[in-house]
Amino acid sequence: MKLKDLFKFKQKKSNTLSPEGLSDKELSDLWTQCSACKTTIYNADLKGNLMICPKCEHHFRIDSATRIGQLVDINTWQEINENIIASDPLNFTDLKPYTESIKAAKSRSGCTEAIITGFGKINNLEMALGIMEFNFLGGSMGSVVGERIARLAEEALKRQTPLVLVSSSGGARMHEGLLSLMQMAKTSAALTKLREHKILFVSVLADPTYGGVSASFAMLGDIIIAEPKAKIGFAGPRVIEETIRQKLPKGFQTSEYLLEHGQIDLVIHRKKMKETLATLISMHKK
Ligand SMILES: [Zn+2]
Repeated sequence: MKLKDLFKFKQKKSNTLSPEGLSDKELSDLWTQCSACKTTIYNADLKGNLMICPKCEHHFRIDSATRIGQLVDINTWQEINENIIASDPLNFTDLKPYTESIKAAKSRSGCTEAIITGFGKINNLEMALGIMEFNFLGGSMGSVVGERIARLAEEALKRQTPLVLVSSSGGARMHEGLLSLMQMAKTSAALTKLREHKILFVSVLADPTYGGVSASFAMLGDIIIAEPKAKIGFAGPRVIEETIRQKLPKGFQTSEYLLEHGQIDLVIHRKKMKETLATLISMHKK
């Protein structure tokens, strides 16, 4: 077969229709395969089940808008600081310029940055809420993520409102070098002020929470909650194994392992997350 024929063959294969006459694209719009148990799930059922596999309870990663819909009372969400957007202080280029990566991340995620912050009600109780968006450059923390969290914490202090942050991140944003690492100190300082004024801060860890995020604000919650089987750690397991030249224990860096070893307080099923957060907030109401 000639090379150009191979391309034609591949093209033809990708256009193959299912017995019902649906293309691959149409099928993937309708069905999703669970990465844990390989069950094929009808997308409408998956959405109706809060993006949890009905067979094995695997929690699929969800975007920030879906998370807001699951946690915030209807018509009460108000975003703040959405106009703070990234610049390119280092004029950074890897495979492509940083500015182009941002543009692509915006159109892919529909978000202006890797975190959305604002205020809303949860079972009729006021809360400040920040939700990281993994689809925006892997939920990486750059200057804007740090600034939005710091401002949200300051506003929560002003309004005397409990703060909830939902993390889902690969860590610091390398495109901003040292400036992204500085956000660890900035967010930690802002959260310390909340603690000094006895304002509740609950940190929710979703899959995955790694690097500079787990090494700063995500682990500073007065109460730290994780979703089941979320991967949480600083460096990935392969890097650790290569560094210490030892095999890591089974279940290392999962929510359940961290709970067993006292690093987090609760592992909560997504269906019980809103109710749990609302209970915690009402218990700490001034
Ligand atoms: Zn499953």
